[in-house]
Amino acid sequence: MRCKTIGLIGGMSWESSSEYYRLLNESVRAHRGGLHSAPCLLLSVDFNEIAALQRAGDWDELTKKMIACAKTLETAGAEMVLICTNTMHKMADEVEAEISIPLVHIADVTAARIQKAGLKKVGLLGTLYTMEQAFYRERLARSYGLEVLIPEQEERETVHRVIFSELCLGKTLDSSREMYREIIRGLVERGAEGIILGCTEIMLLISAEDCPVPMFDTTAIHVAAALELALE
Ligand code: GLU
Repeated sequence: MRCKTIGLIGGMSWESSSEYYRLLNESVRAHRGGLHSAPCLLLSVDFNEIAALQRAGDWDELTKKMIACAKTLETAGAEMVLICTNTMHKMADEVEAEISIPLVHIADVTAARIQKAGLKKVGLLGTLYTMEQAFYRERLARSYGLEVLIPEQEERETVHRVIFSELCLGKTLDSSREMYREIIRGLVERGAEGIILGCTEIMLLISAEDCPVPMFDTTAIHVAAALELALE
């Protein structure tokens, strides 16, 4: 059995990309045993530039950058592409249209897991872009019939701030974990049957025991879906 070469657009932030790399290699070892590891190509960007363009709302420039990254990976021999961030799936359709290898869409593979678990109403935690803009929530609603709840405005700002000022800088604070737990409890009280960790760094802070309902870690789900395709 051959394992396909997995292309990763990472660095957004590298704190989560290193989790992708670890999880991919651990899973290949678990599946294939011995000294097997994951054939992959990681194209890691400078996140400072990306985050500045996000703040400026220059999504056109970001789209160009993501397309260029995906094409580079394809030319280098990648047989599929993963954009290792939820936020940068805003331009996933445009990226997909420019390459001839599959793009493993983080929201699609997460939604498939939620459907499999038989849940209909889920809470979403992520950056402000992911929680507030249409691209993520509408995809879950339109294509998978999911009802997506997001935290109240002040809480959304807290979730976003912790991502950019702590998790992307390698800091995990107990006080922030407690705030996230409180926000998750609020979503569950409003009817969320599951919680999407819709930012690839949140798994550095929150684990299943922080969550009274099933938790959907997009980093782990994305890796598992890529591997399924790679080992097909
Ligand atoms: N890794 C995060 C995400 O999954 C945030 C970084 C970004 O803004 O791209 O959305």
